[in-house]
Amino acid sequence: MQRSRTWLWLLLALLLLLAPGPAGRFVLDLLGGITLLLVLLPLLLGAAGFVAWQVIQRRLRTCESCGFASMEKEFCPACGSAFAAPTAGAESGEQFDVSNVTIDVQVLNEDDPSS
Ligand SMILES: [Zn+2]
Repeated sequence: MQRSRTWLWLLLALLLLLAPGPAGRFVLDLLGGITLLLVLLPLLLGAAGFVAWQVIQRRLRTCESCGFASMEKEFCPACGSAFAAPTAGAESGEQFDVSNVTIDVQVLNEDDPSS
């Protein structure tokens, strides 16, 4: 009895799949969607993990004293030593102390006699 019912369901499913109606198309779409999801999900998860890792890696700071990597900004949680200057210019790869910068202003005489 159980066996014949299983066959009946299988036949019904096959009929649904082969029937050129909206129901068959729906089942095919569903199967296609599930397959696509199963294929794309690992890729999506991998991409999300990669992006998250990049973000974490960018925020990680390595202590110069003990080499401990953490997301703390000011002090190393392992040894307590202060980190180097804030990351203001870290992205550009160019760091300079703003207080040491001198701006030279040249006064130009606008009353030029030749013009
Ligand atoms: Zn440290």
